[in-house]
Amino acid sequence: MTIWNLGSINADYVYRVPHLPGPGETIAAASLERGLGGKGANMSVAAARAGTHVGHIGAVGADGRWAVDRLTEYGVDTRWIRQVAEPTGHAIINVDDEGENSITIYPGANRDIPESIVGLALAEAHPGDTLLMQNETNKQRYAAGIGAQLGLKIAYAAAPFSVAAITAIMPHLDMLILNAVEMEQLHSATGLVPGPEMGVKTVLVTRGAEGCVLFDGDNGHDPQHFPARKVTPIDTTGAGDTFTGYVLAGLDRGMPMAQAIDLATRAAALMVMRKGTADVIPDLREVQAF
Ligand code: ADP
Repeated sequence: MTIWNLGSINADYVYRVPHLPGPGETIAAASLERGLGGKGANMSVAAARAGTHVGHIGAVGADGRWAVDRLTEYGVDTRWIRQVAEPTGHAIINVDDEGENSITIYPGANRDIPESIVGLALAEAHPGDTLLMQNETNKQRYAAGIGAQLGLKIAYAAAPFSVAAITAIMPHLDMLILNAVEMEQLHSATGLVPGPEMGVKTVLVTRGAEGCVLFDGDNGHDPQHFPARKVTPIDTTGAGDTFTGYVLAGLDRGMPMAQAIDLATRAAALMVMRKGTADVIPDLREVQAF
């Protein structure tokens, strides 16, 4: 099967600075590292490294060839990534000597994905494939509409959180993945809790070092807790994205939910012990050995 991921692709520019610049201040950075990031790219890499065929649907600017090449190198099918007029989405990340950071994100091409490429990609989808989305691109509702018609399993990671975005897409969803903060935001905005009235068969709430809670319609939405692995965190960036990519890949490969969650929990634990994002997501062999 295939996971079709309508997702963001970012260049993460990480500048080491002696201190974070204040208003009106100019500082020279001591070093620059360029990494591949964006929630979409991270999830595509995670699912591909978990052994599933991933068709990434997205857009980059004229400056984004390297990002597409890197996704290809990591095993992602990049035939449905288009070059558009906007620059590649990017994050400017200042990190000071204490590890404190400040981040500016420009969505760029990620919000300029042409409808035509979504249609072209999903024309090759088969019932039972998964359509995955997050909230860093345009065209989510359009893709969900096609996905529902085709009988795809539609999964949504509700980040960055937006009530408008999630409520627009919720009627189409088979699976919703969100962290505890996002679940609280959803609840306070709508009063909804995971259960039949939410209308989503499977809801997975991640809780950082405390693991995750599954609410599955097959079990009457009774909460089932899965603990995290005990590790010493170094950098939790990308842990949630790795978790999501691995869960969906496990399910796509026919694993029962509990087994897919176990695999994802191990992959995410490895990830919190590493600095970086898409470039350092562990592969299936490392995860199985962990
Ligand atoms: P997000 O990064 O989206 O906020 P979480 O912080 O909830 O998501 O983390 C997602 C998953 O990553 C968790 O369910 C857990 O399996 C794993 N994880 C996150 N932080 C830790 C940690 N400190 N130790 C072990 N596992 C972690």
